[in-house]
Amino acid sequence: MSQLQTLRGMADQLPTGINSWQQLEAIAREHMRRACVSEIRTPLLEATELFARGIGAATDVVGKEMYTFNDRGDRSCTLRPEGTAGVVRAAIQNGLLSQGPQKLWYSGAMFRYERPQAGRMRQFHQLGLEFLGFNEPRSDVEAIVIAWDLLMDLGLKELKLELNSLGNKADRLNYRNQLVKWLEQHQNQLDPDSQERLQTNPLRILDSKNPNTQELLKTAPELVAALCPESLERFEQVQLGLIALQIPYQLNPRLVRGLDYYGHTAFEITSAALGAQATVCGGGRYNGLVEQLGGADTACIGWAMGLERLVLLMQNQSSTTAAAPDLYVISQGEKAEAIAIKAARELRQKGHRVELDHSGAGFAKQMKRALKSAAPFALLIGAAEASSGKLQLKNLQSNSSELVELNQLAGLLGI
Ligand code: ATP
Ligand code: MG
Repeated sequence: MSQLQTLRGMADQLPTGINSWQQLEAIAREHMRRACVSEIRTPLLEATELFARGIGAATDVVGKEMYTFNDRGDRSCTLRPEGTAGVVRAAIQNGLLSQGPQKLWYSGAMFRYERPQAGRMRQFHQLGLEFLGFNEPRSDVEAIVIAWDLLMDLGLKELKLELNSLGNKADRLNYRNQLVKWLEQHQNQLDPDSQERLQTNPLRILDSKNPNTQELLKTAPELVAALCPESLERFEQVQLGLIALQIPYQLNPRLVRGLDYYGHTAFEITSAALGAQATVCGGGRYNGLVEQLGGADTACIGWAMGLERLVLLMQNQSSTTAAAPDLYVISQGEKAEAIAIKAARELRQKGHRVELDHSGAGFAKQMKRALKSAAPFALLIGAAEASSGKLQLKNLQSNSSELVELNQLAGLLGI
């Protein structure tokens, strides 16, 4: 029989690497708590129409990356490829927006049928933030600062924040016409993907990963030149906000988010250490989406981070060590083993991290494992200890031992 395997592009997270994930999740949760952003959890499976309407049919995600199938009731369902559409649907469906603006975050698995490579998976994980009902440039600044500070706290180095403004609808239409006109003059120099996008989604060509197209685009008209005075003023406000908080950024006139409902602020945070899959966080303002999904006109800004890429960076750039137990419990003999499990339970109830050895092997063997666990203390219970009720607590650093009773243990561990 052939060995069963994960599907292509899907990975197990094994105990040896889980520490970075847990650390990342804990730091993210704490940053959201401090910023008074509330968590929201939405289903992994949604009606396909949500993404077709919410992300846009002309995008790569909807056009070729979704896991879509009909369920047994013949409804077209899709495994979520991103989090924003579901969060906005949930906010509309549950009347959250009628209770006032919402600061929300989510984290979980997303699914895209892409060509797997380092930092690009078919099941991957995102942490996202969505501010629904916020229009002030200050809210753009707050959203960006939360992302930036979180990444700094993960111990990541050499991150780059790139910023652009997509302006309002009229600015974009204006620019789109200019760009299409210019691109049509250079059509034969464009890669095939970009030629196709010229008809469907020309702004997205700016995001092309093709080096020749990128080179060509250096001389293309720039979006910022098409912004009206109000859009420019808004862009300036966001930049002044970042400067005031000493968040370093670079303007990138070719940074776009592909979707029609994105406008004004667009940003990405990248790490040169990641190679081709450099973007760890992408975000922007999406004032048209809530309406597009059937809600009232609502100004929104949000971002999403790719956790696989962050974990790769954390494992290379910051030190994460597995937590050692506070105590390693060694026992031999029936009576001793019964005391051992009782001691472990009581200490765990007091909050200690206790590893219980079940092997029944000789003391020397169990002691070897205790040393390997890096616990500061081992508790030894043999026949003599079991009958006297005096247990041997060994300090594994100093190698000294003392006899203690069960009820003294928690105090002696001193953790
Ligand atoms: P990319 O240009 O890398 O394909 P994207 O524009 O498709 O990114 P978004 O939809 O903005 O990505 O998602 C936000 C973040 O989620 C990305 O910046 C990235 O860190 C992460 N991400 C996106 N797709 C994947 C994937 N297939 N595997 C792992 N992480 C991903
Ligand atoms: Mg992509």
